[in-house]
Amino acid sequence: MTFDQFVFWAPRIVIACGALTFPILFFITAGYGRHARSGQVPAKLGWVVMESPSVFFFAWAWITNPGFGRPLVTLLGVLWLAHYVQRTFVFPSLMRGPGRPMVWYVPLLALLFNLLNSAPNGAALTERPLDAWVVLGVALFVVGYAINLHSDHVLRTLRGPGESGYRIPHGGLYRWLSSPNYFGELLEWTGFAVAAQTLPAWAFVFFTAANLVPRAWSNHRWYREKFADYPPARRAFVPYVW
Ligand code: NDP
Repeated sequence: MTFDQFVFWAPRIVIACGALTFPILFFITAGYGRHARSGQVPAKLGWVVMESPSVFFFAWAWITNPGFGRPLVTLLGVLWLAHYVQRTFVFPSLMRGPGRPMVWYVPLLALLFNLLNSAPNGAALTERPLDAWVVLGVALFVVGYAINLHSDHVLRTLRGPGESGYRIPHGGLYRWLSSPNYFGELLEWTGFAVAAQTLPAWAFVFFTAANLVPRAWSNHRWYREKFADYPPARRAFVPYVW
């Protein structure tokens, strides 16, 4: 298979995987974090290994993209890497304590997904005039990134050094949602797709929703079962609605 064929097929496979993942995750919750029973892969190592293709494989495809150096292709590549350098290296290093080990299939499936998703997104970027869609998309990405970073920061500060228990988070979008970090993540990639207007970018949005919406629901139910005083007005993923 040539690289061009890979770039053609990968987003189509990502969409098919998303269509399968969405219903499955409402019945089987992925085994990491609070939903992990007994894992085998250390959490920090798992994050670095599974997310690495989204830094290195993407960067290679982006730099070898004929549009590299042009304004939009450069801007979108920088936004992607700003997210994934943070997620791959900074996020695990900031985790308090070792984190709960992941069940083996979680980093494996995530690694395969990132191999499929990253290079096609870098290769498909195409230069266009910086129109209103680009402005809107970049604005959504930046707002989503800020929500995601802030929400992950709130979770991190719930624990003291060496602690591994769970508390009710407050502040920012936790006022309305149980998993605003996921909400911010989906907003980011929606903004990226609005600006990029490529099939791999929209396939990524579809898969992210298929993955994170059921998990947000699992987290929401978990909070409600675990904490009798959980704020009743808080919703899983859509403020005031769901
Ligand atoms: P979680 O919200 O489950 O956990 C994030 C961190 O906070 C973990 O270290 C967790 O500890 C800790 N934590 C969570 N809730 C509490 C609490 N109530 N009290 C104390 N500590 C808590 O997020 P994920 O691990 O699922 O995701 C992490 C990041 O990765 C998010 O920003 C998410 O958006 C992103 N992500 C993106 C995906 C995509 O498809 N693009 C897929 C999955 C994640 P512990 O590990 O011990 O539970």
